[in-house]
Amino acid sequence: MSSNNISFEQLGLSTDLLRAISDQGYTTPTPIQQQAIPVILQGCDVMGGAQTGTGKTAGFTLPMLQKLEGYANSSTSPAKHPIRALILVPTRELAVQVYESVKTYGKYVTLKSTVIYGGVSIDAQIAAIRSGVEILVATPGRLLDHLQQRNLMLSKVEMLILDEADRMLDMGFLPDIKQIIQMLPDQRQNLMFSATFSEEIKKLAGKILKNPTLIEVARKNSVSDLISHVVYYLEPIGKQEFLIDMIKKNNLQQVLIFTRTKHGADRLAQKLNSREILSSAIHGDRNQLQRTQALDNFKCGLIRVLVATDVAARGLDIEELTHVINLELPNNPEDYIHRIGRTGRAGAKGLAISFVSREEISLLDGIEKLLGIKIKVEESNFGLKNQQPEYLDKKKPIDEQKDKRSVSSAQSKNIDPAVKKAPRTFSLRKESLSKRPRRTDKIEDPLFSQPYISKYSDLLSAEVGAGKFANKNIHKQYSSKTLPALFIPPVVSKQK
Ligand code: AMP
Repeated sequence: MSSNNISFEQLGLSTDLLRAISDQGYTTPTPIQQQAIPVILQGCDVMGGAQTGTGKTAGFTLPMLQKLEGYANSSTSPAKHPIRALILVPTRELAVQVYESVKTYGKYVTLKSTVIYGGVSIDAQIAAIRSGVEILVATPGRLLDHLQQRNLMLSKVEMLILDEADRMLDMGFLPDIKQIIQMLPDQRQNLMFSATFSEEIKKLAGKILKNPTLIEVARKNSVSDLISHVVYYLEPIGKQEFLIDMIKKNNLQQVLIFTRTKHGADRLAQKLNSREILSSAIHGDRNQLQRTQALDNFKCGLIRVLVATDVAARGLDIEELTHVINLELPNNPEDYIHRIGRTGRAGAKGLAISFVSREEISLLDGIEKLLGIKIKVEESNFGLKNQQPEYLDKKKPIDEQKDKRSVSSAQSKNIDPAVKKAPRTFSLRKESLSKRPRRTDKIEDPLFSQPYISKYSDLLSAEVGAGKFANKNIHKQYSSKTLPALFIPPVVSKQK
């Protein structure tokens, strides 16, 4: 039997879990699920190389629930509910999402779970922990706080799961993780998931995992084939106007935009709002309530744009997100993979658009090197009359290009004011650059020609009409999931 035909039933999952899976509308396990579930059920340690959007959360949550099912009990005594599984994640957002998955997939299993993360009152979390939970989802820093206050014990932990381990290391959690591990029993099953395989990750895996089975659903440091990448060369000063045109002309309804700084995220969100594109910013300086609200509003279509910084966006699971735009490239090329991993999820197509200025060319080179691809350059006639600025000839060293840059900026300064004031147009395809795009030309790019319509759009207009614009629970009333498109064919298992 080819692995393509494997069903959830054949993976050996219990009836309670199969019911929960079916409630979600999932029909076929994703490649990571097909490979990871049987191995985890056997009790092996796993090193999972899986980017976000592959279904990895269900890939470890489902077998974890099954392995703990024997402990399910309805006793009210905390002693009857010691922590059996610990899931460590880098950010609050991911913590909440993983916790929601635990509840979703475990809805017919009487195991108790909770989530703890920083940035909110610690007291509110103590009651939940003290009442006893079998499954704890936590960010490392807050877990240590609780451990220091002796709010919980980890001596009965049987499963340790590190999700997005690479990001935890990037965020400096290694010392915290080491401390936490010392408090766990030696005898336990360890699962580690990471989108990338740096030397540090391999070192950490070497310390934590015992004879791990390597499961990789994507090439090292690769991104989903379902994501198309596009670059526009733009002067920094022109980026925001170009962006606004792009959103308006293509009627983009759900766009995640990355900026490098928190301040930049705030400024962009303000600017977009002032131009009638409803937006919110999500970054580390916003409190948990603001972040959750922004994410909820974005998911349910109340706002069109979410402007995020790298750390805040980590692990965001937004269904059917088709466009990710990098207003600025990240300093670390691996962050590019994380950023665009928000789109092209669970089999759906995605488009990753990057605006690149002269200063960012070396960053683009780094990204292309990491991905092993050349990213397609689209031209924009944004104030530059369809001409890619000469200084952006990537083949030439930056020094040689300096003179050209001044020519180029002089050219742009000399643009006829009438041209500058005219409504700016841009094309998404080179072929149409020579002529003014007509309506029908838009059909050339399916991702843009089929503007994404949020499944909440009708609801939203009804609510707005009825003056209930700020109802943040809208999406909860409509929680039935639209199934993602077909998954990529499963890769051959590398189990040993
Ligand atoms: P993850 O990579 O765990 O963040 O999951 C990405 C998305 O895929 C989530 O929205 C899941 O609900 C969805 N998903 C996970 N497994 C399946 C499946 N077998 N079939 C359809 N969707 C799935």
